[in-house]
This record gives sequence, structure tokens and C-alpha cells, in this order.
Amino acid sequence: MKPEQFPEALQPDLVPTPSGELFYRCLGCAAEFDIRTLLYTCPECGRVLLIHDRRFDRLKKRSPEHWRRLFDYRRMLTIPALTGIYRYHEFIGPIIPLDAVVYLGEGHTPMVMANAPLQERVGMRFFFKNDGQNPSASFKDRGMASALSYINFLIRSGVLSEVLAVCASTGDTSAAAALYAAYLQPRIKSAVLLPHKKVTPQQLSQPLGSGARVYEIPGVFDDCMKVVEALSEQYDVALLNSKNAWRILGQESYAYEIAQAFEYEMADKVVVVPIGNAGNITAVMSGFLKFHQVGLIDDLPMILGVQSAHADPVYQYYREAETAKRRFVAQSVRPSVAQAAMIGNPVSMPRVIELARHYDETAGRQRVHVVQVTEQAIMDWQLRANRNGHIACTHGGECLAGLAHALAQGVVERQATAVLDATAHALKFVGFQELYFENRFPADYEVQPDPELINAPVYMHPRDLERVPSPGAPLDGQDLERFVQAITSAIAGDLDLKKRS
Ligand SMILES: *Cc1c(COP(=O)(O)O)cnc(C)c1O
Ligand SMILES: [Zn+2]
Repeated sequence: MKPEQFPEALQPDLVPTPSGELFYRCLGCAAEFDIRTLLYTCPECGRVLLIHDRRFDRLKKRSPEHWRRLFDYRRMLTIPALTGIYRYHEFIGPIIPLDAVVYLGEGHTPMVMANAPLQERVGMRFFFKNDGQNPSASFKDRGMASALSYINFLIRSGVLSEVLAVCASTGDTSAAAALYAAYLQPRIKSAVLLPHKKVTPQQLSQPLGSGARVYEIPGVFDDCMKVVEALSEQYDVALLNSKNAWRILGQESYAYEIAQAFEYEMADKVVVVPIGNAGNITAVMSGFLKFHQVGLIDDLPMILGVQSAHADPVYQYYREAETAKRRFVAQSVRPSVAQAAMIGNPVSMPRVIELARHYDETAGRQRVHVVQVTEQAIMDWQLRANRNGHIACTHGGECLAGLAHALAQGVVERQATAVLDATAHALKFVGFQELYFENRFPADYEVQPDPELINAPVYMHPRDLERVPSPGAPLDGQDLERFVQAITSAIAGDLDLKKRS
């Protein structure tokens, strides 16, 4: 629909122009910094930053009803820059002009309701939100669209001329970073650091295909992170990890979409996310808080963070019920099928502590919970979900394992409705499915396949069949007929098919 065809009351706000006054604020010393600089940590105390809008209260001048209608009507626009996460421009990056927005098809991922058998098995109503249907097949594209639109904006305003973007990654960040940087080449180039053999072949193929410089580093993600931190402190590069607060802004779109999908009724909702570096859960809490502040939602949904027992520093922190006694201890991680969350020292931990406190305070009760699940439960629930029509990755399975666990513990109520983040596409982590089906998991994963969930291809080559076709050597005539009939009978026998009468 063309802008001039929209209701008159919406027209002035339909296509947003730059507004607001963003700045970085340090979570340690509360110092504030100019938004027109590439900044990742506080130059004064070294802690992480969050982006705030000095003029946020202007958004409260519009009624919640106006905002809801505006976001609903923007769905009908055909302007590319407003087709993705910037549908929520005023909340995501209001200083970015639309002509600097990079849109590669991210956001507005489908929410798929679990079928009756799976809901029954789990014990409640829930949806998977398929963030694996983003362009690089994970939710990281949301934050990358934001971070790269911002860099593009700085280039267009002459603040920067060219940029080398770097990130450390458990696989998906580098795939997303390389993709968005490739779109903006030659002015933006990217280099990514991966822990050697700790990303899947699919994830490794992505930055290679996008033309990034790819470095494999010994160790785990936490080691790679240290190296890019040193790089970004000592050299002139743009850091694209979620330490970069622009990533968080973009990932808030996930919360906004859920609110919109439920007509902004969040009282009985549970939003389940896996926790790795903790950027995602930070963004989800921040997003719901912002919508709540403006009155777009009256209630904050429950946030359920999930960690594997093999990488659970956030869970361990919150296990201590008394706030004053909580101490964060970085962990050394063990192998996990939730490999993108295999992080022992989450960069966004200070953000989580601050936002979870604010979230609970605003809700007037504990509304943020973190649960721990086993590797076994992650695999079993992932495979079970996908047998019921989903495309969840292991981290989506981790969410479902966490929901089932929280339900059994009474943390989540049966009457609630949950939205589970299938953070990446199942295909990215298909190697773990293979290990499960072939019962080849190395012992340190602690996964034993459930025979009911195993599946394997059946090679059909009846013994009495002498001649079979092969590439370049097709069969014909009687040989082909004999071949087709033999295989047909063998399959019919295996499936126990009844002859047509
Ligand atoms: C990055 C990632 C996570 C972890 O998200 P954080 O923001 O690091 O907590 C989970 N699942 C997948 C598939 C990821 O790529
Ligand atoms: Zn500081």
C-alpha cells in the first residue's frame, strides 16, 4: 500500500525520519559517551555499555493505541528499510536515516504453534519462533542489521571512510557479520575469528562463502573473544560482537515482534531463550521494558533463560536466592550440543544483572528465571520437536528442555503460553543429530540416544538384483523393469503396504 493511502492520523509518523538523541552509558560508572564514535567498552572503567535515548520520553506523547496501529499499518508498506527490524525504528535506532538502513530480509520470523501431541507431551501451549529463518539462518542477523546500518550511517555522514569489521564467534555471529559486510563491500570488509573445530562445517562455510577473512584459533570461544578484544583495543577495527551495544538494539526487535504477534497481551506469556554470551536475553528484556515504559504492553512476560549444565555460569549466579550473596564466577566450559552457547564468561553478564533487576522491580515480582538442563534433554527435546514439524536447532531444543523442566518445577504455570526461540536453523547443527542417530557421541557430551528417536536411511538393494543403474550407466528395457519391480516390492514389504484391489 502507498503511504498516501494510509489513514490520515498515521501519515505523519508512517515513514519515520531521524529523531531521538542516542548515547552510550557505561554499566559500571554510568559515564556517558557520544554515539558518533565506535565504542564497545567504557574508556574510563572498561565495563560494557548500553545505548539509551535522552529523548525517549517523547515516545510517550503518542498513545499506546497510536503506536500499535502504526506498527500494524507499517506491515503493509513496501519500503525495504521498514520491512525488517526497522518497523520499530523509533525504538531500535531512531537516529539512523532510512537510506542508511541495510535490509537483507531479517526479522519478522514465523511463530509456529506446536501441534497437539507435542503440546500434550510438554504440558502446555507453546510456539517456536523460527529465528533460523533469518538470512544467515540465525537470530544474529537482527543485531547485525542494526550494527551495520549504524556503521553505514557513519560512513555516509563522513565520520568513517572504510571499516574492517571483526568478531569472535561460536559460528553464527561470524556468518551474520560476514553476510552483512559482504553486502556493504568494498567500504566494509570483515574478518572473523573462530575456535578451531568448535563450529559446525555449515557455520564455517558461511563466512567463507561471503568472502570474509576467516581465522581459526586454538581454544574455545572465550579465547577468541580475548583476541578480538585486544584487536579492537589496539587497532582501528569495528567490533561486531554483542559487546557492541548496537547489536543489542537490533535484537530487541525479537521482543517487539512477539508483543505485536500477541496483540500486545503479555500477562500470561513466557519467553524462553538460550543463554550463551547473554546478548540475546539482554535484548529481549530491554525490548519488553521499553514497550512497557511507553505503555504498548501493560504486563511484562516471564523471561526464562536456559543453560546447559556444561556451560551454565548465568544459572550458577542466579542459583543463589539472596541478591547480596550472588557472585559471578567465570567457568571453563565442557563440550555442548548447544555449541553456540558454549560460553563460560558471558560478555553481557553485567547487562543481564542490571536489566533482570530492573525487570523484576518493574513487574513487582520475580519475572526473570534461569534454569539448567542436561545435554541429554537438549538432544531429546530437539529431535522430538522436529519430529512434530519444527526446524529447531539444538538451542531451540535447549529452550524446550528448559520449558519442560521449568513446568515440572512449578516455575512456569500450565495455563501460560510460551514462545521458544529456535535461534538457528536445524541444518546448521545437523552434525549433532547425526551423532545421536549413529550413537557416536564422544563420552564427554553425556548423550545416550533414545532408540525411539533414532532414524536412519534404509539402503534398498535386493540381493537377487543383478543389475542396478549408476550415474552414466542407466538401465533400460527388461533390466530397468526388473530393477523397478524389485525395489518396489522390497519397499512395499518394508512398509507393510496392502496391494491395490
Ligand atoms: C549466539 C547464539 C546463541 C546464544 O545467544 P547469546 O546472545 O550469545 O546469549 C544461542 N543460539 C544460537 C543458535 C546462537 O547463534
Ligand atoms: Zn565506566
